[in-house]
Parts: sequence; structure tokens; C-alpha cells
Amino acid sequence: MEKKKIVLIIGDGMADRPDKNHSYKTPLEVANKPNMDFIAKNGICGIMNTIGYGIPPGSDTAHLALLGYDPYKYYTGRGPFEALGAGLNLNKNDVAFRCNFATAEERNNKIFITDRRAGRGEYGLKELGNLLNFNIDDVDVIFKTSSGHRGVLILRGKGLSEKVSDSDPHTTGEIKDTVPLDNSYEAKRTSEILNKFIKKAYQILNNSEIQNERIKRGEIKANIVLTRGAGKLGEIENFEKKYKMKGACIAGVNLVKGVAKAVGIDVIEVEGATGHFDSNIEGKILKCIECLESYDFILINIKGTDEISHDGDFERKVEMIEKIDKAIGKLIDKNMNATIALTADHTTPVTLKEHSGDPVPIAILGDVRTDEIYRFTERECAKGGLGVIKGIDLINILMDLSNRKEKFGA
Ligand code: ZN
Ligand code: ZN
Repeated sequence: MEKKKIVLIIGDGMADRPDKNHSYKTPLEVANKPNMDFIAKNGICGIMNTIGYGIPPGSDTAHLALLGYDPYKYYTGRGPFEALGAGLNLNKNDVAFRCNFATAEERNNKIFITDRRAGRGEYGLKELGNLLNFNIDDVDVIFKTSSGHRGVLILRGKGLSEKVSDSDPHTTGEIKDTVPLDNSYEAKRTSEILNKFIKKAYQILNNSEIQNERIKRGEIKANIVLTRGAGKLGEIENFEKKYKMKGACIAGVNLVKGVAKAVGIDVIEVEGATGHFDSNIEGKILKCIECLESYDFILINIKGTDEISHDGDFERKVEMIEKIDKAIGKLIDKNMNATIALTADHTTPVTLKEHSGDPVPIAILGDVRTDEIYRFTERECAKGGLGVIKGIDLINILMDLSNRKEKFGA
């Protein structure tokens, strides 16, 4: 039996709900997308709950599930995936956080946040981030500036827990100490270290020469760091060991790259892959075609559709879907002997500007039982031959269709 390669294309947040301002249609129903429709017409279609019925997935939990890892078992917070995606290495007991550079002011010995994003001014943030690597109470503090005003923080040492509250007040005002979220010694110790870190970071950042430079440039101070999304990676079974497939991931955003790294999948960088509307989608597809020589499974994430959905822009979402479609055409033209799956990680209705729990359409092209579905849309795919599937089952379905599954039983 010939084993086939697998390509999984994920239009992030691409699925939608009918919009009453657009004749009760979804962006997928309005877009002109011959290549996506080709996959639907010549493949098998269905509808998928990436996490479970009625659960609005995050991109991290959804991608874990689509790679065959139960997010309820492996997900404790966003921090570890952001840290991995930003290029830091993570041990299983490290506690990782997402961070924002912010602007703080001292009044009566209290620290007040005046801007949660330090005005989004990026000058000097890399150098400021480098100042935040030290040791507190035998715990190594590892900080790295990532994109924009963001950064990642790792606490590495004995007796740490991810059960601590955010230091980010999510609004301006007096900064709150983080508190332990359970009664364990580890949570108490971690929140104490975190509070010490934030005060020390404020002292170091506020006294840095770089603040004057920022002000000269018309930016505001970036003199404090706010933390959120604490998580621990724990033990995750390696993808290649688990599925006997060499996997790769092509993505623009750190969060998805981080999920891939967490399960031991190679992250392939593509120039101009930004995760935004302007991303080099064709470059990603071409890179995928090239990499299929050396990999068995490639996941491509295209983030732009989700970003636009959060902005609530129906027309641009249609445009983005059409751009993705054009790029997918390159893959189909190649006529490779691969199983190609097209789906979304979750629904992000433009009318909601947030993720929802509606299932997403899925179409699989390859050695499949075709059905009567001709268009890749939410409502058409719901009538397809795959029926309703769960995200965590997708990898098994794809492997079976690619002759990569071993028989269960005799
Ligand atoms: Zn997503
Ligand atoms: Zn989103």
C-alpha cells in the first residue's frame, strides 16, 4: 500500500455565520474561490467541531486538537506556546507568560498603569527586554521581546506553578499584585517571585537611558512589563513518534509556530509570511510543495482571515479568502499524490468580531468517497459525506485516507 503525504490547510477563523447585511450569506458563500470549490467537488466534505460542540476554540487549543492532542490534557495557558513561537526553548517544568510592555507612573509609592501598550512605540524594546534576565530566589528569569509591544517571560527553577493570576489589570489604573490561584506552596511561591519580578523590572526599565531616547522620539516610556496567560508545557508526546510521520508547520504567527514546536514539529520559515492581510500566502504554498519531498505531513496556517474577522470587515474577509484560493491553485495544479485537507480552526463571525463555537467546514481531496457537494461553504459542507467530526479525530481520518493507519485488531 502506498503511503501518501498529507497537507492540512487552515484558514484561521475563516468560517463565519450568515450576515444579514450581506443577504444572509457568509464570506465563504460570497467569495469567488474555484480552487476551494474544486477540493469540495472532487473530495469528501463535512463539518467539524474542533474542540467540541458549542465550544469557541482559541487558535492554540484548536491547533493542538487538529494535530491530535487533547487540549484539555495538554493546555494550561497561552504562555508556553508564545514563548516557543518567539524562539525560546522551554523545559517541561518552566512557567511561561505572555507579556506587554506598558507605561507606568509612581504616585504615593504606588504604581499606576497609564498605557497598557506603551503607546505601541517599538523603539528600544529589544534592548529593554535584554535587561530583564536575572535571578530571583534561585529562579532564573528569562525574558525576550517578541513582536510589537509584546514579549515572553519564562520562570525556570524548582517549585513553580502556573496557577497564578495575571498582573495585567487589562485596563489602566493601579497595578495589582498577582495572587496564587490554588492553595499550593508552589503557586504562592510563583506569585511572590512574579511580584518581585514586576517591581524589579520597573526599577530597571524606568532607569534605563532608552526611556529618554523614546521620549525624544515622541514615544512614551516603556517602563513596566505586564504578565498574563501563565502556562506550563508538561510532557507532550512527540508527533513523529506518535504518528510515525515527519511533520512540518508553515505559519506566520508565533502562537501557531509555538504549538507546532511544542509537539516536536519543524517550523519552516517563509519570507514575507506575516500572519496579516499582506502575508505571502503564495510563498507559503510554494514552500509547502518544496517541503513535501522531505516531510510526510505539513500544516499550513493562514492567519489573515481571523485578523480581519476580529476587525469585523466582511469585504476584506472575502478578498482574503480569494487570495488564499488563488495560492491553493498552485498546490492543486501540481497534481501531487497527496491527501489535501482544507478547513478552519474555528469560526470567527465578522458580526461578532470574536471566535464562536459554530462548527467549521472541512473538505478532503484524495483517495476518498466523493459526495454531492460542489462548493466549499459552511452550509454546503454540512451536507457532505464526512458528516460531523471532532477536531481530534481529523488526524486519524487523514492518516487512514493516506494509508498510514494500522489495523486495530486481527
Ligand atoms: Zn485561530
Ligand atoms: Zn482570533
